[in-house]
Amino acid sequence: MTGYPASPALVLVDVSPSGVLRSSAAELIGAATAVGTPVALAIAAPGSAERLGAELAGLGAAHVMIAESADAARGMVLPVVDALSAASAALSPEAVLIANSIQGRDAAARFAVRSGAALAADAVGVSRDEEGVVAHHSVYGGAYSVESAAAAGPLVITLRQGSSSLRAEPQDPSVEVLKVPASGTSDAAVLHCQETAVVSARPELRGASVVVSGGRGIGSGENFALVESLADVLGGAVGASRAAVDAGYVPQSLQVGQTGVTVAPEVYIALGISGAIQHRAGMQTAKTIIAVNKDADAPIFEIADFGVVGDVFTVVPQLVSAIEAKRG
Ligand code: FAD
Repeated sequence: MTGYPASPALVLVDVSPSGVLRSSAAELIGAATAVGTPVALAIAAPGSAERLGAELAGLGAAHVMIAESADAARGMVLPVVDALSAASAALSPEAVLIANSIQGRDAAARFAVRSGAALAADAVGVSRDEEGVVAHHSVYGGAYSVESAAAAGPLVITLRQGSSSLRAEPQDPSVEVLKVPASGTSDAAVLHCQETAVVSARPELRGASVVVSGGRGIGSGENFALVESLADVLGGAVGASRAAVDAGYVPQSLQVGQTGVTVAPEVYIALGISGAIQHRAGMQTAKTIIAVNKDADAPIFEIADFGVVGDVFTVVPQLVSAIEAKRG
């Protein structure tokens, strides 16, 4: 359509209930450049178009659509699906990129059903071939890499956070307040919504570039200070295996794996973790994997780029001291 960039790739960006752009936005916009020209869509409270538009242009969105909704802070999915429908009708994109978060998967699935589009969930990359947009996936605990594409129509893709390192060049802001016709679909009513801020000096696990995880081999919740000490000298996030979570060492929110968080950091350090398939499913796409385990036959060493056979209580304090000494 006249006025919109050629070959648009629609990117739904997450905005927190208090109106702050989530960290996944830069990655989604960057990934979109591999398949088209990024057009960002945000659902936000009235009055925030100018601020968000400037931020999203700074991240490389060639055009920004803001769907203003008084319900934006309530985190409902229906306004998001309505906005996706309106933006998609205006742009006719070949690709719609959405974060593979709980909310993102919810919106993507509902939008795909409503629009009759194909859905490619949990992609770790996107590209284009002579037939159109392709989503790349890492499946069966990272044992296989597969591709998916739409037989016809646009491809709706949820992208695993941390999986793409592409970043887009900043653009001059081009911002539009999108008119979103109400779909008339009935939705749940949220009577009260309160954002809970997690106060931590460490980066968020999902999306951190360095993750240091501890397993059953750490032995207790108190001993997790060892995992934290290494995470802190590296500026990383702390993760855990399910065995460590089940034993009560750390909260479930730190669990990495099939039934926990999926991470794709630059560096993943596994301390006292055997490397069960369900754990690998959540971390195998890390760029560099380092393992410390006292059992030389532990399966984690099959996927580790660097491995130390040794006791974590001997190896990790030495590692922390060496890093601190090097930094002076
Ligand atoms: P273990 O397998 O007990 O391994 C502990 C390791 O620590 C051993 O290799 C040992 O050699 C080493 N060790 C012990 N002491 C030391 C020391 N002092 N120094 C160095 N090394 C030491 N697991 C997940 O992690 N995430 C999931 O999301 C998940 N989802 C699951 C879903 C299903 C349906 C099922 C059935 C299982 C799931 N699991 C998951 C559990 C998974 O199968 C494993 O049981 C779990 O990952 C094991 O955790 P672990 O490696 O910490 O413990």
